[in-house]
Amino acid sequence: MLPLTTKDLRQLFYGRNVAELGLPDVDNVDWGVLDYFGWIHPSGQLGFVAVPLDDGLRGLRLRRISNPNSRPRTRMCSWCHHVYRHRGTALFTTSVVGSDGRRSIGNHVCSHLDCSLRIRNLTSDPSTYLPESMHIDYKVRRLQNSLTMFLSRANALS
Ligand SMILES: [Zn+2]
Repeated sequence: MLPLTTKDLRQLFYGRNVAELGLPDVDNVDWGVLDYFGWIHPSGQLGFVAVPLDDGLRGLRLRRISNPNSRPRTRMCSWCHHVYRHRGTALFTTSVVGSDGRRSIGNHVCSHLDCSLRIRNLTSDPSTYLPESMHIDYKVRRLQNSLTMFLSRANALS
């Protein structure tokens, strides 16, 4: 994806300040290997994603629910299909736009929002439990489709 600045990201999230967003330093991000930009707020309880689509950038603020006390189980990231043998996903939920917080949707996703690195094998901790031999272009398209579907269900495409 094309590089984003702190200003771009603050605008995307309605002028929230850097501390509210828990924005990481974007100068050291390797944008060329990302399909979306996701980061975790230092509180650990919020995640943010910035997703480039053909007609512009979309952003979602997500609640992040990880339950370290739950029994470890094999789980697949709904977005990139990385399979974790024990732990590694978190439940990310968001309010459906226009529902006044009454409806929300959620997906179990890589807990550090690093799907792009996982499909490119740029991080191996932990490696996937079920390796796939598909071409990277296919994995990128699948990830983009999953993100678009999530944005659509959150009513955040318009
Ligand atoms: Zn993932």
